[in-house]
Amino acid sequence: MFQKILIANRGEIACRIMRTARVMGIGTVAVYSDADADSAHVAAADDAVRIGPAPARESYLRVDAILAAAKATGAEAIHPGYGFLSENADFADACAVAGIVFIGPPADAIRAMGLKDRAKALMEKAGVPVVPGYHGADQTGLKGKAGKIGYPVLIKAAAGGGGKGMRRVDVAEDFEAALESAQREAKSAFGDDRVLIEKYVSQPRHVEVQVFADQHGHVLHLLERDCSLQRRHQKVIEEAPAPGMTEAMRAQIGAIAVKAAQAVGYVGAGTVEFIADASKGLRPDRIWFMEMNTRLQVEHPVTEAVTGIDLVEWQLRVASGEALFKRQNDIRPKGHAVEVRLYAEDPPSGFLPSTGTLERLVLPDSVRVDAGVREGDAVTAFYDPMIAKVIAHDATRAGAIAKLAGALTKVEIAGLRTNNAFLVRTLRHPDFISGDIDTGFIPRHIEELAPQTPPSDDVLAAAARYVLGKTSADTDADPWSNADSFRLAGPARQVMDFVVDGKHRRVAIPAPSAKFTTQVLRLANGDLAAMDKGETFVLHLHDPLHDVDTEGEGADRILAPMPGKIIQVHVQAGQAVRRGDPLVILEAMKMEHTLSAPRDTTVETVDAVLGDQITEGAVLVRFAGEAP
Ligand code: ADP
Repeated sequence: MFQKILIANRGEIACRIMRTARVMGIGTVAVYSDADADSAHVAAADDAVRIGPAPARESYLRVDAILAAAKATGAEAIHPGYGFLSENADFADACAVAGIVFIGPPADAIRAMGLKDRAKALMEKAGVPVVPGYHGADQTGLKGKAGKIGYPVLIKAAAGGGGKGMRRVDVAEDFEAALESAQREAKSAFGDDRVLIEKYVSQPRHVEVQVFADQHGHVLHLLERDCSLQRRHQKVIEEAPAPGMTEAMRAQIGAIAVKAAQAVGYVGAGTVEFIADASKGLRPDRIWFMEMNTRLQVEHPVTEAVTGIDLVEWQLRVASGEALFKRQNDIRPKGHAVEVRLYAEDPPSGFLPSTGTLERLVLPDSVRVDAGVREGDAVTAFYDPMIAKVIAHDATRAGAIAKLAGALTKVEIAGLRTNNAFLVRTLRHPDFISGDIDTGFIPRHIEELAPQTPPSDDVLAAAARYVLGKTSADTDADPWSNADSFRLAGPARQVMDFVVDGKHRRVAIPAPSAKFTTQVLRLANGDLAAMDKGETFVLHLHDPLHDVDTEGEGADRILAPMPGKIIQVHVQAGQAVRRGDPLVILEAMKMEHTLSAPRDTTVETVDAVLGDQITEGAVLVRFAGEAP
């Protein structure tokens, strides 16, 4: 066994590999970019080497720097994790040349499976059923080929991955435009614009089989996973076993997966991905080979949970030359496991990645959590926005789902947007619970799953109490000892005003004895984060007298202090306003800014138009008469 390994990756997977290495008594070396100098995976390693600036091309994808780091630290082997260099055959070759073990398959196996079209041709030859379609070298007359396959079809980049260069086409008239844009995207993402065309499988389910091979010719499969819950063709919830899988069908696809691995002389951990037409349930004659991923998958923990096998331990054993000691018959699923990928992303805006600092990060302790970030860490645009994977295991599928959903309601995250509440809603959806899933599940239910429900009055009341608690602590006086109630700024008040998602919300101030489960935190930008049952609400404390006063009391107009979008207009021309009255609310840099009247005056014109995107310095409101 190795004495020391280098992990050519970052985030949760680097931390997870190190955890097993430590248990096995193997030393660990981290590599890091400048953006990751203080990150969790560096802290977790015995040794760490800087390999370059933040962009992956200049750090985590730099073969020379990584090999030099391994040499300098005496690491005998490199684990590439997933992503980055994990499926890069040239890197595997370079490791061999440098006399370092690549913890993964032989370079030739990576090459054989690296292109979707070639892999399909190879599998077809080996007698494996592949998705019907066209995957030839000739890239002319593709529209005619699509017509022969029959619409709907799916255009895929031959070199594809991550859903890039993939377009579904429903009718012939749309084919040319879709092809052009798929080729353009493929060219820019992979430097290769070749495509294949597949029949678009109806009610598709993504079922994949974990395989394992040693260097002595033994190949096993470690059961299947179902990864049908996807957004933008990318996995977000995975489970093992696949709902509705029968023993017979498992044996069949397991045998196909083993055959696929054998066909390319596979060694180590790999995944054979299938697509099933689930319109009539899972059926052996309706499942086809899609592609093989020649690395450890993100979702490997669900397999670990149901098989009791540590896949990273097996990878290290196989790479160091040990033989697999289990037989196929020893591998039986025990219970059910479900994993969610907790992402820094915003479901309501089409799952756009969100960046920022994790001002609060509380993850559940009742289930397995694989995280690569800590409270205070930043999620940047340089890397994958995954915060953590959360995995629950139970005797039954319903039990695992309930455990996982319950655990996620304990999550507290502030400082950026996450999909946590979306995940809870998905796990608790009756159709998900009943196993009625396919890859269209999320798009089909998006209206129920994505939008954030407005915070309850209780959540706002908890925030109000938090603000009062802070204020009274600051001034060292208990506002409740005042007979005329609390004074925040000026007049006595029994209520507090917030702006939530551009809308005003007023809440009665609760009695000091009121108890709340909502956790409240003041963010660095002055807003409040109210965290309740796994959901985070950002509340802007609406205090007119303290809001932006752009030009001072004497101004005859209100100018936009920064570029942004007009999300509320409160006044009309001719209206009398009092000092501090809100005039316009501007959303800029994801924050809301209330522009208020600088003095008692009359509005002459309102130049701000609701919904308009405006530039800095734009006139929003003009006042009548001379400025005093
Ligand atoms: P990538 O490698 O870019 O992630 P895949 O080939 O693995 O692309 O496909 C990603 C997802 O797209 C699959 O999990 C499945 O949901 C969907 N998909 C792929 N091929 C088909 C098909 N022929 N019919 C329907 N859906 C498909």
